[in-house]
Amino acid sequence: MEIAKTIAEMKALRRQSSGSVGFVPTMGYLHHGHLALVKQARAENSIVVVSIFVNPTQFGPSEDFRTYPCDTERDLAMLEKENTDIVFMPSAEEMYSQGFSSWVEVEKVTERLEGSYRPGHFKGVATVVAKLFNIVEPTRAYFGQKDAQQALVIQKMVADLNMNQEVIVAPTVRESDGLAMSSRNIYLNTEERQAATVLFRALSLSKQLWGKSERNAERLRQEMVSLIKKEPLAKIEYVSVADAQTLEELTEIDRTALASLVVRIGKTRLIDNMVLR
Ligand code: AMP
Repeated sequence: MEIAKTIAEMKALRRQSSGSVGFVPTMGYLHHGHLALVKQARAENSIVVVSIFVNPTQFGPSEDFRTYPCDTERDLAMLEKENTDIVFMPSAEEMYSQGFSSWVEVEKVTERLEGSYRPGHFKGVATVVAKLFNIVEPTRAYFGQKDAQQALVIQKMVADLNMNQEVIVAPTVRESDGLAMSSRNIYLNTEERQAATVLFRALSLSKQLWGKSERNAERLRQEMVSLIKKEPLAKIEYVSVADAQTLEELTEIDRTALASLVVRIGKTRLIDNMVLR
C-alpha cells in the first residue's frame, strides 16, 4: 500500500496506474460503512484509492472540525487489510494553498435540509470532491447513501460539469440495533448511544406506515416527530419526507421519497435516512 501525502506524489502514483481506478473519499476514523465502500471499489476496479482528509471548508465555525476524531494508524491498518493500493492523505495546507479562491457551487439541491442548517457545507464538499477528482482521476467514485443529499450533490456536479467519473452510491451500513455507523458515534456516552437508536426507530416507523399505504407525507413527519419526542435525550433539528431527487418536501407521496432526519443526542449531531420506494 502506497501513501501519498502531497498532490504531486498522488498524481505521480496515478500516472503509473493502469486499468480502472475506484476511489473512496473519507474523513478518516474509519468504520464498516467506509470499508463496505472500499470492498465494493476493490471488487469493481484494478486500483483502489482511498483519501483521508478532514476538509476544513465543509465545517461551520461552531462545528466539530477541531475535535473530529482521528486515528491514522488504525485507519491505515484497516485499509491495508482491504488491499487498498493507494491512500491519499494531504494536509489542509497542501489542499488549500495561500490565496485559494476557486469554489464549486451546486445550486438548488444544496439549499434544502443539510444545506439550510449548515450554510456553506456543500460548497466545501463539492469543491473538495472536485479537487480530489482532478488529483486522483478515478474511473468510479463511491459514496454512502447515509449522506443521501451529499450523494445527490456530487451526482449533479458530475453531470453539470461533464466530469468523467461514474458515481456509485452504496447502502447505509448499520450497527445491529439499527444505528447508522458514523465516525461521530464515538462522541456518544453509554446512555446517549442507547438513545441514538431513535433515528432508526423513527425512520423504520415511517417506512412501515408507507408500507401500509400511508401516502400523507405530513402524517409520516408527525409520527416520526412524536416518536422522537418520547426520547428525553433527543433534540430534533429536522424531519423531512421529500422527493428523493429534488429534496422538495412532499404533501402526497406519489413518487420515490426520502425520509430523512437530523437529531441531536446531547452534543452529537446525528443524520440518517431511508428511501420510501
Ligand atoms: P465521511 O468519512 O463521514 O466523510 O464518509 C465518507 C464516505 O463514507 C461518505 O460517502 C459517506 O456517505 C460514507 N459513509 C459514512 N457512513 C456510512 C455508513 N454507515 N454506511 C455507508 N456509507 C457510509
